[in-house]
Amino acid sequence: MKSTPIVYRGRLAPSPTGFLHLGHAATFLAAAHRSKSNAGNLLFRNDDLDCARVRPHFTEAALQDLRWLGIQWQEGPDTGGPRGPYSQSERISLYKGAMLSLLEAGWVYPCGCSRRDLALALSAPHPSDEEPVYPGFCRPKTPLSNSCSPGFQPELNWRFRIPGPERVCFVDGRQGSQSATAAVDFGDFLVWRKDGVPSYQLASAVDDALMGITEVVRGADLITSSFRQLLLWRALGHTPPKLYHCSLLTDAAGQRLAKRNDALSLRTLRAAGHTPRDVKIRLLEMGVPAEILEL
Ligand code: GLU
Repeated sequence: MKSTPIVYRGRLAPSPTGFLHLGHAATFLAAAHRSKSNAGNLLFRNDDLDCARVRPHFTEAALQDLRWLGIQWQEGPDTGGPRGPYSQSERISLYKGAMLSLLEAGWVYPCGCSRRDLALALSAPHPSDEEPVYPGFCRPKTPLSNSCSPGFQPELNWRFRIPGPERVCFVDGRQGSQSATAAVDFGDFLVWRKDGVPSYQLASAVDDALMGITEVVRGADLITSSFRQLLLWRALGHTPPKLYHCSLLTDAAGQRLAKRNDALSLRTLRAAGHTPRDVKIRLLEMGVPAEILEL
C-alpha cells in the first residue's frame, strides 16, 4: 500500500506584547524559507495568552509587518483555515481537554506553592536554566489520576510531573544535537496557571500537535522549552515535530535583541523609510545565512 506523503506544515507564532524586531524578522524569514523550500504550508498563530502584556494592536502590527517583509501564510487569524481558531485566547477549551487527558494518565498535579515559597526554598537556582528546578513540595508520591483526585480544577496552578532523571535528546535542524536531563536541568514545570490559562509550554505543545505542525522554527532561546515540550508531546501521545532553532541576534553592544529595543523594530525601520530589502541586508550583516533571506 502506498502511504500519503506528509506535507510540511510550519508556523509563525509571535506574542503580541510589543512590535516585532530584527530578531523576529530573522526567525520568521527562516520559518517562511523552510516552509517554501519544502513546498509546505505556513500558518500564523497568535500567542495571545499573556493577558497582562498582550495588546490587540500588536497582533495587527505583526500581521502587517510580516506581510510587508514579504512573508506569506496560508492560515491565520486574518485568513482563517481548517485548524483554527488561530488565536490562543480562543482555544482554551482545547487546552482544558489536554489537561484532562494528562490528569487521566497521572502526568499532572495541582501546586499550591507561591512565588515567595519558591524564592525562599531556592536560594541557588540552577545556573544553566531560566527557571529553578521545582523542589517538589506539592508533588504527590504516586501519580494522581482522575479516580483519586477531585478532577481538573482550572482555578489552581498545575505542574507536569517529569519522569526524572531522564535524558531528553533531539537533533536540531540548525543547532545540531541537543540534550538535557529532566530532574537535573529542569524540574516539574507549570502547565496551567490559576488565572485559568495554560502555560506557554502546554499551549504551544498542544497547538503544534493539533495544528499538525511538522517542523517548529523558533529562536534558540526556546531550546530549553523544547525539552519540556518533547515530554508533553509524548505524554499527550503525539509524534513530536522536527525542531529548528535559529541563532539569536545581538545588537552592536552584544545584547540580545528585545522588544523594548525600539530602534530595531520593524515599525521604526519602516517609518524611517527602509525597505524590506534593506532589512534583509542588515540581517545578512548580522550573520543571518543568505539562503534564508532569499536575496
Ligand atoms: N510566542 C512565543 C514568543 O514570541 C514563541 C512561541 C514558539 O515559537 O514556540 O516568544
